[in-house]
Amino acid sequence: AVILGLESSCDETGAGLVRLTEDGVELLGQELASSQDEHARFGGVVPEIASRAHLEAMTATVHGAFTKAGVPFGAVDAIAVTSGPGLAGALLVGVAAAKAYAAAWGVPLFGVNHLAGHVAADTLEHGPLPSDTLALLVSGGHTQLLHVQSLAGQITEVGTTIDDAAGEAYDKVARLLGLGYPGGPVIDKLAATGDPKAIAFPRGLTGGRDNGYNFSFSGLKTAVARWVEQAERDGRELPINDICASFQEAVVDVLTAKMVRAATDLKLSTVVIAGGVAANGRLRALAAERCEAAGLTLRIPRPGLCTDNGAMIAAVGAHVVRAGAFPSSGTLSGNPGMLVSQVLAG
Ligand code: ATP
Ligand code: MG
Ligand code: FE
Repeated sequence: AVILGLESSCDETGAGLVRLTEDGVELLGQELASSQDEHARFGGVVPEIASRAHLEAMTATVHGAFTKAGVPFGAVDAIAVTSGPGLAGALLVGVAAAKAYAAAWGVPLFGVNHLAGHVAADTLEHGPLPSDTLALLVSGGHTQLLHVQSLAGQITEVGTTIDDAAGEAYDKVARLLGLGYPGGPVIDKLAATGDPKAIAFPRGLTGGRDNGYNFSFSGLKTAVARWVEQAERDGRELPINDICASFQEAVVDVLTAKMVRAATDLKLSTVVIAGGVAANGRLRALAAERCEAAGLTLRIPRPGLCTDNGAMIAAVGAHVVRAGAFPSSGTLSGNPGMLVSQVLAG
């Protein structure tokens, strides 16, 4: 079976085509349009601009995916679309488009979870997941440790951020340093030539009885802001690269330490890192180091599959189709607050 996946939860319009194989999912081709540059001067995503951009880009993006995959337009067996979580107006564009294509082509429609999509992206590159896997989902809106039993529906939250998401911390720190939006890629790059030990920024929720599986990044963001204010008051020039490297080290130290501890405690021998922040160079390196030391198998999709795309949504579609799930009802709508425990919308 060939499945089309549509993504429009934030500022990326994505369409991807996958094929359900004997034991896995094969990526056939995908197309992506982004309104990222239009949000840059606001320092974050502007919902109205994102919705309009999705509407403008959707048709060409879907056509582009078919062309790149070498599949005749409309020759699919099912459609999957991001139902949530995400921006209400942005989700609506994808859901409405998916409904129209499904009706026109007479194929079943599955409204699926964007976060499950981030994890499923890895199966396009590294094959099926073992039936019990620990996932670290690190994106612009979420930072969670998940026990993934099945990508077709059984995902349980082990830990989550109690305030900012990791990607959000990158974006906010980049904004206060005047580095633009999104912050992740630019901080990743500048940090590479900075000293991660230059400034001792706090590691949130790591002390004593706070050291569970939850995360906190707003204190870190505030600490960076205070440090910058003090340096400006002192009339010192800002060591941007050192600030970036030290901030980044504080983020990835906590992420990888808690990930490894959760996997060890829950006796899950495979870990997957997914979501936009999984594209981060230092996170990938430190995770590899610590997983090797702990005897864990680490999987991280290539950077292009970490950030939002349509192929990851098609991948979830493939997993639910394989599991024999019922399609979503005709009243399918966007669900901005959809929980990760719900992979498929009813
Ligand atoms: P969610 O998936 O939670 O709904 P989202 O879809 O907006 O949120 P993603 O597209 O998965 O998030 O990821 C975007 C985030 O990833 C942004 O915060 C961005 O700064 C961050 N990011 C992207 N590349 C990197 C990188 N190389 N290093 C660190 N962070 C990165
Ligand atoms: Mg984005
Ligand atoms: Fe995302």
